[in-house]
Amino acid sequence: ANERLYELSCTDGLTGMFNRRHLDKVLEAEVSRHLRYGLPLGVILVDVDHFKKINDEHGHVTGDVVLKNIANTLKSLVRRADIVARYGGEEICIVLASTGEKGSLILAQRLRAAVEAIDHTGVAGEFVKATASFGVVTAEDKDPKLDVPTLLSRADQALYTAKKSGRNKVVSWNEMTEDDREAPLSRK
Ligand code: GH3
Ligand code: MG
Ligand code: MG
Repeated sequence: ANERLYELSCTDGLTGMFNRRHLDKVLEAEVSRHLRYGLPLGVILVDVDHFKKINDEHGHVTGDVVLKNIANTLKSLVRRADIVARYGGEEICIVLASTGEKGSLILAQRLRAAVEAIDHTGVAGEFVKATASFGVVTAEDKDPKLDVPTLLSRADQALYTAKKSGRNKVVSWNEMTEDDREAPLSRK
């Protein structure tokens, strides 16, 4: 019963993903492990494309179904050691333990294609499609100044660049130009 309680305290009720509280703990632990042992670390931020439009056109309950389906697909494709967490409303954060740039990018592309391939069924039985954009950041070379806020802000910059470049895309912070990195994050 205690184990079940602990599980519930780490879980997001709607989607069954880990919640923000658990994500924050895992990120802190993984960054410390990276800095101490030099293990690579990958973080992917996912944001559903035009989700407001899906809600507007199909209703909030169908929006919830779409989000749950996406969550389940992401969870089914990562390794056991990885965590998939609800970062905000329709934003998801995936932490890839011991995974560097190459592996993180391959996985992100696989996840992007899998999300695009889902055939959702709305509450009225209607057919719904959705895509998502992915921002990837990895830590491979120990940088003592690296911390969780820095990692998340880089993943967010990469995600923002993926949105700007047409959505349904994967962008890695490592591959971004200095200009894109320095552009103010004027997100709506
Ligand atoms: P973009 O491609 O730029 O991300 O467009 P967007 O419409 O997804 O972006 P925006 O941030 O404007 O809208 C996000 C929407 O997601 C607004 C909010 O109502 C909806 N949303 C957030 N959480 C949930 C949820 O749990 N269920 C449902 N149905 N909708 C949610
Ligand atoms: Mg969003
Ligand atoms: Mg969105």
